[in-house]
Amino acid sequence: MPLYEYISENPNIEGKSCRNCSRGFELIRPVSRPPLENCPSCRNPVKKLVSQVSKPNAARGFSISDAKAKGFQVLKKQDKGTYEKM
Ligand SMILES: [Zn+2]
Repeated sequence: MPLYEYISENPNIEGKSCRNCSRGFELIRPVSRPPLENCPSCRNPVKKLVSQVSKPNAARGFSISDAKAKGFQVLKKQDKGTYEKM
């Protein structure tokens, strides 16, 4: 499911938007659902921002230590056993 970023249409108007939408928030929604039009917490109108997927640092991938920290199992190719004894 794609990740969408939303921000209030009036982020700078005091009292017009809650903390979430005045700074923007991320939401994962199925493609089949219509775009979000109102903030889920304060009901003020929000607009969709360009998806993070298009940002260059998203394509950079992540390091092995990052992967391990996130609970991924990191497999390393072993050289052992690749040579035959002559
Ligand atoms: Zn809000």
